[in-house]
This record gives sequence, C-alpha cells and structure tokens, in this order.
Amino acid sequence: MKLFFFLLGFAMLCRAQDQATDWVLEGRAAWQARDSQAEWVFRDQLWIGGGWFQSYEEPPRDLWASGDGREWKLIEKNAPWQHSDLPMNITFKDRMWIMGGWHKGRLPGHSASNQVWSSGDGLKWDQVTAAAGWSPRLAAGLVEFHGRLWMLGGTENYYFGDEKSLKNDVWSSADGREWKLETANAGWSPRAYHQAVVLNDRMYVLGGGNYVPAYHAKNDVWSSGDGVNWTRETASAPWEPRMWFSAAAYRGRLWVLGGWSKEKDNFGDVWHSADGKDWQRLETTTCWKARHEHSVFVFKDKLWLAGGHARPLSNEVWSLHLPVDWKPKTSTASLPVLTLPVRVHLMQSETMPAMHTTLAEPDIRRIFGKVNKVWSQAGIQFEIESIGPTTAVPAPPEMRLKPEFDRVHSMIPKQRLSAVAIDVCYVKEVKPNGFYYGEPIVVKDTAKLQEVDGGLDEPLPRVTSHEIGHALGLKHRQDKINLMQSGTTGFSLNDAEIATARATAEEYLVRRKKGDAAGKP
Ligand SMILES: [Zn+2]
Repeated sequence: MKLFFFLLGFAMLCRAQDQATDWVLEGRAAWQARDSQAEWVFRDQLWIGGGWFQSYEEPPRDLWASGDGREWKLIEKNAPWQHSDLPMNITFKDRMWIMGGWHKGRLPGHSASNQVWSSGDGLKWDQVTAAAGWSPRLAAGLVEFHGRLWMLGGTENYYFGDEKSLKNDVWSSADGREWKLETANAGWSPRAYHQAVVLNDRMYVLGGGNYVPAYHAKNDVWSSGDGVNWTRETASAPWEPRMWFSAAAYRGRLWVLGGWSKEKDNFGDVWHSADGKDWQRLETTTCWKARHEHSVFVFKDKLWLAGGHARPLSNEVWSLHLPVDWKPKTSTASLPVLTLPVRVHLMQSETMPAMHTTLAEPDIRRIFGKVNKVWSQAGIQFEIESIGPTTAVPAPPEMRLKPEFDRVHSMIPKQRLSAVAIDVCYVKEVKPNGFYYGEPIVVKDTAKLQEVDGGLDEPLPRVTSHEIGHALGLKHRQDKINLMQSGTTGFSLNDAEIATARATAEEYLVRRKKGDAAGKP
C-alpha cells in the first residue's frame, strides 16, 4: 500500500534525520517545582535558589546544587537574601551573586530590592551593599562584560507599578558595591522580563516588556560594545514577542528559550542566532513542555533547562548537547528565488457536495500569501496563474472500487488542468486533509490540524504547503514542528528538504521553458 505514503494523516513512517541534537529529560529535581528562581553555574555544579510558588506568600529562600542535574543537594534552607523572586544573579570573580528581586508577591509589605549579596561557597552570604546605586528593582538584565558587572533595565515594581516603573538605564560595577551609571537611557525602550547575554565581545539585550498594568512584549534585539551606544540588530526577530523567557550563549550563538506572551501563553520553542539579526529555530524530536521563567545554564558543554512555569510549575531538568561541529541550517537568504506558477481550481458540483468547495478567490489569495511565507525558507515562491471554478464530473463506474484519490482524480476534468502550472484543486470533503498522488494536488476546505507551538495559524495554507512539498519530491518526516510531519500546523524544512525541493523546482523550471508538460513536478 505504498500509495498511502502520500496521504496526510498517516504517521510514523520517517524518523527525524538529525538524532544527534535532542533534548534529554535528566530527571525531576529534589527541590519543589517553581519558577523565577536564581541560577548559577559555580564550581562545577548547577545551582538554583529562591523563586516563586505563588503570589500570596513570601518567596522561598532555599539553595540547591547538583553536579549532574539529577541529584540535588539542599545547601541552605533559608538564605539571608529575602528578595528571591525574579532577582538578578550571576557568577562573577569566582563568587555567586544575587541582587535586586521582589519580595512578598501581592501581599501587603511587598517590595523590590537594591541589595547585593555574594558568596564563595553558598553557605556564607555577604551583603556587599544594602543599597546599590541603582533603584530597587527586579527582572533586569545582568551580565559580566570587560571584567565588570552590568545591570540593564528592569522594573521597580512587579504588580503595582506603571510604565514609569520600567527602566532603560545601564549601570556597571567592578565589585558589586560601587555602581557607575553608564547611561540613564539606553537606546532600547524601558523594559523588564527581558534577557541580556554577552557574545563576541558585545552585550545583547533581547525582548521583554511589561506585565501589569499595561502588558506589552517585544522581540527586538540590541547590542553594544560599551553599554552606552546601542545598535538595534533587529526590530522584530522571527521568535514571537515575549517576556519571562531565558537566553544563553552556547556554541558561539545566542539562544532564546521558551517564555510567555499574553497572546500566545507559554512558548516551547528554541531559537539561535550568531549575530542577533538572523535567527533560526532549533528543531528537535523531543522538547520540554512550553514554559516561562525557567532557568537556563551552560554546563559541561551542554545547554541545560530547569524548572519554570509549565502549567503546573515544574522541577524538571533537561539537557541538550550539540556536537562540537554542529552547524545550523544554511541560510537560504542568498539563494535565488525560484518562482513556480500555480493554477487553482475551485471545484464545483451541484450533485456531489464533497466535490463542491465554498472557498472564494480572496481565500485563495490569503492561503497562497501564507504558502509563500512557508516556502520562503526554501527560496521558493508560487505565482497564481489563475483561480477559477472547475466543475466536477461523475466518476466513471470502473472507478467505484478504486482508492479515493484515484476516484477524486477521475472527477476532475483533465482538459482543465494546466500543461505548465502546478494544479491545486480545492474540494469540500475527502478522507485526508489533502493528498498528492501525482497532479492535481487535492486539498479539502474543511481540513483540520493539530496545533503545535509556533505553527501556522490556519490549516489550509499548511495543508496546501505540505502537499506542494510532496509535489516537490519531499517525503514525510515525523518530527515535531516541521512541514512534512503529518497532520500538524508546523512548517519548518531542514537543509536536505530544501535542497530536494529546490532541485525538483529547478528541474521543473528548465523543462517548462522547453514547453514540456512532463516537466511538471
Ligand atoms: Zn503528506
């Protein structure tokens, strides 16, 4: 039954091609599930401390360490720092540091801090200053850069502030005690719940925004070589605007992991970039459940993720190892765009409701707008040659016992099909969402898909793009978020698929120039 390979909805035929890069669930930590905790890599161990259980209690002040992400040891039950909800934390000059943060959630007496604490062993904590130069705040960026600590933005009030609570100031310090205001207003807008990362001798500020009272979230990326002069690398990265995410530098790239937005709720995606401008999503077969305010570490040559709010709170610990010679997908930005013509048939029938679509031309324009977005990752575009009604003819009697796609094909009059364009027929009802078994491509206008994180927002462009993928020589690949997976809204292509699809498209264009209809994909 090899024909079924072409049907959407028949799963599990192909394994992911890139098994080397996958998330591994190391286990569930001994600490109570939480989010918004501090995290450090210090003296060959992972550390977490404090965090958030709920908004109507004091935040926890416990401190835990692990050498392998599996076995965790309670180091301290009640550390002296009280503002452990969304504090800033870092390992600096061979000490663990925690500063700022929020205390008491939404309870009376809540406050933000500008205390700075550090420790050389996790047991003994020194208050470096009770009041740093910067205003009390939480959820700022904190990095080490050129031998100094750098504090970037944040908010002075978690639940009860306003836009004025948000900061875009930049402070630096060599010792955590004396702080120097580098600029009161950096180039990026005031924000909290963003991330800051150092890569290639530049500081990066990514995304973030504000939670209450006026929610807003960003997906811009800024960089600076001195903390004062900032360059906007992109106003809008391909990852969706978000806050409460995590970021890291690993394998010479910036990483953005998970997070939250009011529109989309939790994110379960992973993105990377060498420069903050060009971003790619990392495809893996396994991934942690979407979450926000988790910890991310780079430890033992791996990327680690722990805890976070995954509905419910989590104490999972995950790791991802990318081979040292791991290379991201090649960029298609420089490839010449291949444009293929498409003829769209709106199938009509008075007697066969299944063969009568109710889609109209504006629907097709919208669908193909999105199809072209999907296929832009391969440098392939589709140009609509025509959109028109095509009346279905009854299937000849000998077709009655044939498979559905044969039967449906026999109801589409051959003389209406294009000699040179790719034919796509929309109908009302077939068993799968669509199929490609040689042309014409058939898609039902009632298609339904399982939604996946970061997937397309409606089924028809995805189904159409998927079937076009088959027409361009692609097989199923049952990964998480990719275009050739059966029955989901994912739409990414890997390098091998892009190469195959482009080769098929190029071949088609060459033959088409010769006026050879057999050149149709
Ligand atoms: Zn398929």
